[in-house]
Amino acid sequence: MSDNISYTSKIVTRFAPSPTGLLHLGNYRTAVFAYLFARKNDGEFILRIEDTDRERSKKEFEDNILESLEWLGLKYDKFFRQSENIERHTFYLNKLISEGKAYISKEEAKDGSGVIKEIVRFKNPNKVVVFNDLIRGSIATDTTDLEDFVIAKSITEPLFHLAVVVDDFEEGITHILRGEDHIPNTPRQMLIQEALGFPHPNYAHLPLVLSPDRTKLSKRKGALPVTSYKDKGYLPSAILNFIALIGFNPGGEKEIFTLDELVNVFDMLKIQKGSAILNEEKLNWTNKEHIKLESKEEQFAIIKKYFNDYDDELLKKLQITIIERITHYGELSEVVNEFSYFKERETPVLEKLLWKETTKENIIKHLNYILSMMDTLNFSNVEKIKEVVYAYANENGKGEVLSPLRVSLSTRDKSPDPFMLLYVLGKEESIIRIKNAINILSS
Ligand code: GLU
Repeated sequence: MSDNISYTSKIVTRFAPSPTGLLHLGNYRTAVFAYLFARKNDGEFILRIEDTDRERSKKEFEDNILESLEWLGLKYDKFFRQSENIERHTFYLNKLISEGKAYISKEEAKDGSGVIKEIVRFKNPNKVVVFNDLIRGSIATDTTDLEDFVIAKSITEPLFHLAVVVDDFEEGITHILRGEDHIPNTPRQMLIQEALGFPHPNYAHLPLVLSPDRTKLSKRKGALPVTSYKDKGYLPSAILNFIALIGFNPGGEKEIFTLDELVNVFDMLKIQKGSAILNEEKLNWTNKEHIKLESKEEQFAIIKKYFNDYDDELLKKLQITIIERITHYGELSEVVNEFSYFKERETPVLEKLLWKETTKENIIKHLNYILSMMDTLNFSNVEKIKEVVYAYANENGKGEVLSPLRVSLSTRDKSPDPFMLLYVLGKEESIIRIKNAINILSS
C-alpha cells in the first residue's frame, strides 16, 4: 500500500512549534515529516510560531527554531506568528459568542486570589467525534467528558485550541501532522471547526520518540537541541537523514538519503504506529556515512581548519586516516592532539620500544633492516610499503618487528599502523625517527 493518492486540492502542511524551549531531534521530526509530505505532493510547507503563551514564549527560542530549520535545509513557503493573528482569533471568538456557541462565564481565578474572571467556555454539543487518522486509522471520542471547555482567558485572550483552529483555517492547512500527545486536542478542535463552519483538515498523529530507556524523550533525559549537533560539527544532511528515519522505514536496504531522495521515498503509510527509540549510535553511523559522501576537497577544507599548521601535502596523505578516526567533525580537535607526533618529532621512551621477551639487540637488528630497505620502498603508495615491510615482519615475528617500528615513528603504542606512519612521514623523517629509536635502544 502507498499514499500515492492524488489529492484534489493543493496540500498544505505546517510545523507549529511553541517557542518555549530548545527543541530536540524528536520535535523536529514533525517538521521533517510535514516538509516531506508537502514536497512529495507539490504542496506547501508553512512555519507557524505558536507564541500565544506570552510568559513562556521567548524570542531566543524562536530564533533557535529558525536557525535549526535553516541548517537542516527545511525551507518553508510562508511564515506566521500566532500572536500576530489575535484580532482574527477575537473576531471568531465573538462570532461564537454571538451565535450562542460559546459563552462568558464568571469564575474565580484558579490562583486562590478570589478574583472573579470572565472566561469564555465553548458550548459542547456533547457528541461523538470521529476522525480518520492517516497513521492510526479511525479514532472516535465521546466529547461529553470534555464538558464546556475553556477557549479564552478573557474576550481578548483566546487560548490555544481556538487560535490553532482559526490559524489552520486561515492558512489553508489541509494536513496536520503532529505528535500523538495532541490526540486528545483533536476532538476539541474539531468541535470548534464545526461551530465555525470550517472544514476539518486531515490529521496524522506521529508516534512518540523515546529515549533509549524507553521513557519520553526530553531535555532532562539528555535530548540535545538540534543546534548543539550543529555546534559539535555534525553534518545537517546526516541529522536530517537520521531524523527522517525515526519511526519511518521506506523499505529496502538503503539507509543513507539526501533530502531530495527522502522527498521521493516518503510515504505516510510507512510511518510506524509504535513509538520509536532514538539511537545515538545510529546517529553517529549516519553522520560518518554522510562524511564519506562528501568530496575529498570538502573533507579537506574542514580538516585543514583544525590541522591549520600542517602543510597540505602531509595533510592530504593523512586525510583518509583522519576521516576513519571520526564520526563527526567536532572530534577533529581531539585527533589533532592525538596526532601531534606527525607534526612534532617526539622522543620515544625505552619501555615502549621493547617487545615482550625479545632482546634489545633483536629489535635493533629489525630496525636496522628496515632502515636498509628505505631506498627500495615506494613512499608514494601505502599498500606497496605494506607489502614489503609486512613480508619481513611476517617472517621475523610480527609483534617484535611492527610494535617497535610503530613506537619509533609515533612514540605511541596506539596509532595508525606503521605502514601508514611511514607513508605519511615520508622517507627522510622516518629514517631520522628510526635512527633516534636505535640510539635510545643502544644506550
Ligand atoms: N504548538 C504545539 C506544540 O508545540 C503544536 C500544535 C499543533 O501542532 O497543533 O506542541
